[in-house]
Amino acid sequence: MTLQEKLEILADAAKYDASCASSGAARKDSRGSMGVGSTGGAGICHSYAPDGRCISLLKVLLTNACLYDCHYCINRRSSNVRRARFTPEEVVRLTLDFYKRNYIEGLFLSSGIIQSADHTMEQVIRVARLLREEHQFRGYIHLKTIPEASPALIEEAGRYADRISINIELPTQQGLTKLAPEKNLARTQEAMGHIRGKIEERFSEKRLPGRPKPPPFATGQSTQMLVGADDATDATILQRADTLYTGYRLRRVYYSGFSPIPEPSKLLPLAPPPLVREHRLYQADWLLRFYDFKVGEITTPEAPNLDLALDPKLAWALRHRERFPVDVNRAPRESLLRVPGLGVRNVDRILQARRYGRLRLADLLRLGLAMKKVLPFIEAADHTPIKLGLDDVKLRERFLPPAQQLELNFDPPPPSAEDDRSVRSGEL
Ligand code: SF4
Repeated sequence: MTLQEKLEILADAAKYDASCASSGAARKDSRGSMGVGSTGGAGICHSYAPDGRCISLLKVLLTNACLYDCHYCINRRSSNVRRARFTPEEVVRLTLDFYKRNYIEGLFLSSGIIQSADHTMEQVIRVARLLREEHQFRGYIHLKTIPEASPALIEEAGRYADRISINIELPTQQGLTKLAPEKNLARTQEAMGHIRGKIEERFSEKRLPGRPKPPPFATGQSTQMLVGADDATDATILQRADTLYTGYRLRRVYYSGFSPIPEPSKLLPLAPPPLVREHRLYQADWLLRFYDFKVGEITTPEAPNLDLALDPKLAWALRHRERFPVDVNRAPRESLLRVPGLGVRNVDRILQARRYGRLRLADLLRLGLAMKKVLPFIEAADHTPIKLGLDDVKLRERFLPPAQQLELNFDPPPPSAEDDRSVRSGEL
C-alpha cells in the first residue's frame, strides 16, 4: 500500500473523532466517498489551538485495526473495512512534509488498539517524541490516549503533547457494557484524574519561586461523548459532562452525534439523531460552564431531553416566567445572565453602560442586543414586557422556528474553540 493510500484510509477513519473540535468540510456519514470530513480529503482538518486560533491539523489514525469491538465504531474488530497501518516514522514524515509546505500547523493522532493498550500508546508516543526531539517540531500536537495504558505512558504522552484526550464515548457504564464491552467508565475516569493531577502539578510547581522549571505537560484534556447511539437521555449526558468538568477539570466535552456506519451492528439505532440535538447539547454545555446553570435546571425529571425547537436557556425562561422581567438597570449580573439573548459579553456591556444613567431601549439597541429575543424578558427605563401583550402560548410561538427548520437537518455551527476565552463570546 502506498503512503497516499494509507493516508486516505487512515484520515477517513479519523473523521469520527470530535475531540479535537475539528470541523469537517462535509457531513460525517461514512457511507459514501473517501475523505469526507477532512478539508481536501488528505486528512487536513481545522481545529482550535489553546490560544483560540483556528489552526489546520493533520488528523489521522496510526492504524484502523483494533482489538476492541465497539459496536458504534467503523474500525471495530468485526468490521469489514480495509485496514491500514502507518509506522511512526511515516506519520512523522507526513507531518513534517505538510508542515513545511504550510498545509498544517499541527497533528491530531489517534489509533485503534493493536497488540495491547501499552504497545499502541508506545507507538503513538514514538511519533510525538520523534517530532519533538529529533525534528524540533514546534507545531501543535494533540494525542489521543488509551485509558487502559499504564499511567507512566499516559504521562509521557502528556510531556510531548499540547493537548491530550481520552474518549469517554458513552455517559454510563450500562451503555458501555452494551456497546463497547471492553471499555470501563471507572477506568477512564481514573485515567482522567491522573491527567488532571499532572496538569495541576505542572501549573502549581510553576508558581513556586526558586523551584526548577517543571517538565512540560499538556495544558488541558478533552473528551468526546457519543449522542444517540444508546438510549441515554440528554440529562444523563449533561450530568456526566458536569462530573467531568467539575471532578476532572476537562477543558471541553465534545458531543458527537452517532453517525451511520456501513454494515452496522444490530444493537445500533437505524437512524442518526437529528443534528440539532448535538447543537442543543453544546448550548446546554455553555450554560453549565459560563452561565452557572445546573443540570437539574436545564432538564427536568418530566422532560429529560432538551427541547429541540428552542435553545435551552429560552426553554428554561419559558418554564420560569416568575423570574422575569429582569430590570436591566438594577438586576445583578447573575439575573441578567439568565435572560435569553443576553450573553456574557452583553451583560458586561450593560453593567458598564448603566453606571452612566438609566438604560432605555435605544441604549440597548446601541449595545447590539438581540431585541426580539430579549424584550419579553426585561424591563428598561421606557419598557415593560406587559406592553407586548404576550401570554405563555404567544411567547412560545414567537420563538418557534419555521416548520422546515424542525426537520432538524441543518448543520450545527462549527464546533466551538477549545479555548475557553473564545467560547465566552457565545451569546445565548
Ligand atoms: S477502541 Fe473502540 S472506538 Fe476505539 S478504535 Fe477500537 S473499536 Fe473503535
